[in-house]
Amino acid sequence: MAKDTCEDHPRLSIFRLKEWGYFNTSYTSSRISWENGWGRKESIRVIVDFNEYPLSARLSYNSDGEDYAYNVRLEADTCRFGGKRYWFICPLNIAGRYCGRRCAMLYSAGRYFGCRKCYDLAYSTQQVSYSGMLAGCFELMTLSDKIDKKLSEMRVKYWRGRPTKRYAKLLRKMARLGMLSDQVERETSALRALRRS
Ligand SMILES: [Zn+2]
Repeated sequence: MAKDTCEDHPRLSIFRLKEWGYFNTSYTSSRISWENGWGRKESIRVIVDFNEYPLSARLSYNSDGEDYAYNVRLEADTCRFGGKRYWFICPLNIAGRYCGRRCAMLYSAGRYFGCRKCYDLAYSTQQVSYSGMLAGCFELMTLSDKIDKKLSEMRVKYWRGRPTKRYAKLLRKMARLGMLSDQVERETSALRALRRS
């Protein structure tokens, strides 16, 4: 088997997402892990929510101690014999130019994920940034920090055994961001109450 030169770099394949059932249900959130070149485990959470427009894959991960969370637009073609073929739309700006290419694979180009072309260009220019254009409005970076701050400032979380409105809102936001994994045990009762409401 040919050795893939990009093995050390995190990447996301649209085909793998399809394999993992991302396009079969209205909402999928999972964490995808790999080992980097130094044997350190890294991971990324990918959420696809068909109830949101425009359709996007929401990526959240930590890179060099910083949290990133942003959307990558998805597009679909209807295949001739039924079914759909999905594409990522590269969300990067390289040296001030928005990419927007359709691609089946996203590579970690600098701190953000982008197409192969951006990934190559990222090494010749340092001016890589995420483009909010067409990528759906989503607050960038440290979003989880902001939520953590809100959470710590919130004095009343429950009222008569149910989450308060503010707390419920925050929980929903955290669930969307995939931040609940560690807290899910503690918050199970709150989530159950949320589902009832
Ligand atoms: Zn690109």
